[in-house]
Amino acid sequence: MKYHSTLRLRWIIYLSLSFCSYHPLKGNNDTIKDEEYLMLQQAKTDNLVLKQWKAGEKVTIQSTQTFGIANCFKSLPIDSSRFLRIKGKSYKPDCNIPLKELRYLKVLHYNIKGEVRLGELICNKDISNELLAIFQELFRVKYPIERMVQIDKYNVEDEKSMQAKNTSCFNFRRVAETQSLSNHNTGHAIDINPLYNPYIKIRKGKITMQPKNATSYIDRSKRFPYKISKGDYCYKLFKKHGFQWGGDWNSVKDFQHFEKTKK
Ligand SMILES: [Zn+2]
Repeated sequence: MKYHSTLRLRWIIYLSLSFCSYHPLKGNNDTIKDEEYLMLQQAKTDNLVLKQWKAGEKVTIQSTQTFGIANCFKSLPIDSSRFLRIKGKSYKPDCNIPLKELRYLKVLHYNIKGEVRLGELICNKDISNELLAIFQELFRVKYPIERMVQIDKYNVEDEKSMQAKNTSCFNFRRVAETQSLSNHNTGHAIDINPLYNPYIKIRKGKITMQPKNATSYIDRSKRFPYKISKGDYCYKLFKKHGFQWGGDWNSVKDFQHFEKTKK
């Protein structure tokens, strides 16, 4: 029994040392080689993620530079594979927007932890170049955006997407609580960091908000991360490009919402 216990202990120590960066039998060169190997593996994984554009995934900034920053900010047509992802979802059966009017955008964004994430959006071609310019600038200044994946991943449920803090643009839907069509319908409107920048309506003292779990963010005099206000760089950029902000509306406030329609 005693012999077996000693042998097991030796194995545990050996395995622990093998997994540690420190190893008594290794020199500095070996440790450097291990680090180089891990970096190489990470670079290979990142390259695949970037090539396949797996929105929502994290990559290193070095990998994006190797891949080419210009390749990470692209406006692309809705080809058949992209159409399959939205058909019957954000592109509903009664959607009358010709596909040639829509664009799929690849963008990079930082989150609040400083991680580089892959983002995607579908928008109208009228605003695609402006959105690319805005997101390139937001990336340059490391403006935090929590998540940016297609709303189709949330079963096209705006409430779910907003609760998941997901930035989104095109979605054929009605304006909240009315029957009129939103500018999201044509891909002319975008919602940024929605949980922290909710839609708020006050009628006869009753507050309605979307998403429903945004209670902590309806007091706009408070300071918190991701908040869009008039001093915010995101607000300034969208205004510079001629967008209207839902936070400026009178009857309701939609702090996440920017839109720009044809003149
Ligand atoms: Zn909106």
